[in-house]
Amino acid sequence: MPEIAIARFAHEGNSFSPLLTPIDCFRSGEWAIGEEVPKYYRGSKTEIGGAIAWLEKRPAWKPTFLRCTAAPSSGVLAAGVFDAIIGEITAGLSKRKWDAVFLSLHGSLNAVEHPHADFEIVKRVRAIIGRDTPLAVSFDLHANVSQAEADIPDIVVGYKCHPHTDMAETATKALDILERRIRGEVKPVAVIVRADAIIPSLFARTTDGPMAEVKQIAADIEKKYGLLDLTPYQGYAYADNEAAGASAWATADGDRALALKAATELVREMNKRRPLLFKKLPTAAEGIARALAAKDGPIAVIDSADHTGAGGIGDTPGLLAALVAAKPTKPTAFAFFHDPDLVAKAQAAGIGGRLEVRLGGRLTALFGPPVEAEVTVGHLSDGKFVNVGPVHGGLTNDLRGCARLDFVGLPISVMITGICHDTTDDNFYKAANIDLSKLSVLAVKAKNQFRASFGGTFREMIDIDAPGPAAYDFSSFPFKKAPKTLYPLTR
Ligand SMILES: [Zn+2]
Repeated sequence: MPEIAIARFAHEGNSFSPLLTPIDCFRSGEWAIGEEVPKYYRGSKTEIGGAIAWLEKRPAWKPTFLRCTAAPSSGVLAAGVFDAIIGEITAGLSKRKWDAVFLSLHGSLNAVEHPHADFEIVKRVRAIIGRDTPLAVSFDLHANVSQAEADIPDIVVGYKCHPHTDMAETATKALDILERRIRGEVKPVAVIVRADAIIPSLFARTTDGPMAEVKQIAADIEKKYGLLDLTPYQGYAYADNEAAGASAWATADGDRALALKAATELVREMNKRRPLLFKKLPTAAEGIARALAAKDGPIAVIDSADHTGAGGIGDTPGLLAALVAAKPTKPTAFAFFHDPDLVAKAQAAGIGGRLEVRLGGRLTALFGPPVEAEVTVGHLSDGKFVNVGPVHGGLTNDLRGCARLDFVGLPISVMITGICHDTTDDNFYKAANIDLSKLSVLAVKAKNQFRASFGGTFREMIDIDAPGPAAYDFSSFPFKKAPKTLYPLTR
């Protein structure tokens, strides 16, 4: 009866966010341990959901669920957060000898003490479980990876899909290889070859375009050489560490030279497509003007510079300012601002209550001043909902209060939430009683995951670039640790 320990510690840390991430962001996100874990994740399209389904087909295996936690992408982990969470996991691991360990990580964890924190996790875990206990890891494809890190676990498998619709499959693949490793059928060896750029993720979807080609090429190379896995990591553009940038991670069965050959072939294809990933985007005003001029809606205007899934803070006001300046005459909505005090004020005023408000620009003045407005409270809710879409489907969420504020004199509704949360699920909007199909324009802080959920809802999605911690054009951001040999830092 193989005894396997399972833990999850996943977060993507934006080095350029003005805010650090406290442990509360994890506690209010995914946060489960022991028997809570299967209860929370069973049936969900997540790595732990995938691991549970995998284990249920293997009744001889005895799983122990250690701390499983994840928070939406945000700033670097504040002092002590990393140690608190990894300390809980390593304490659990040190209780006994394991036959196997599986870790669900992101790959771009970024703590003030450890900018390349996933490397620190695998080092600490390996030190406890010993060299002989097989260790499998799953990563997001936005992981910033290094060879030193690759040399520690036995198996690492990354997502192949962006938007991330293959979280459960990624865990399953890692566990399949882990099982073969335990039986002595395979000896995984991993080689990383780094690409020549830090790439923005906006045009790096794997559903279409250059990275869809790269995904297919990786699958072909994996098959051609009989590799255990070949993952093209796109990397996370806003993490400033020495592992920054895209790379190819090949895992072969015992043949390091073959892994090197495969990763080199794949990186060549990634480098070739680099120019297609850097484009000129419209400004917020240009995007809004185009959307309002469209004959039929709904149209989404997407500001990824403050996208929660890329370390946004739910606070940059640029896109709303452009919408207000355009004086729309058709129904529009803006999602969202993270402002718990404003949610409380709206609750105190009640439905129909009238308020003078300052929207956005609350946490920092770096990205523009707040938008001042007179509004009425259009809807209030507790902000609790279950995802119904393809991303994190089945997971429960708690916005800790939600309000819809309707502008006086303009058809603009603004969604205010008690926490900073992603905008990728239809039920997120229902928390504010916003019916997307009735809008002409939705101005939204979002990115590619949004497209996975709403491709059928909007007639058009217009990407814009505005000031924010995850701005599309990051070439002038103050990178200090990332290699300056990587494009666009070479510009
Ligand atoms: Zn990702």
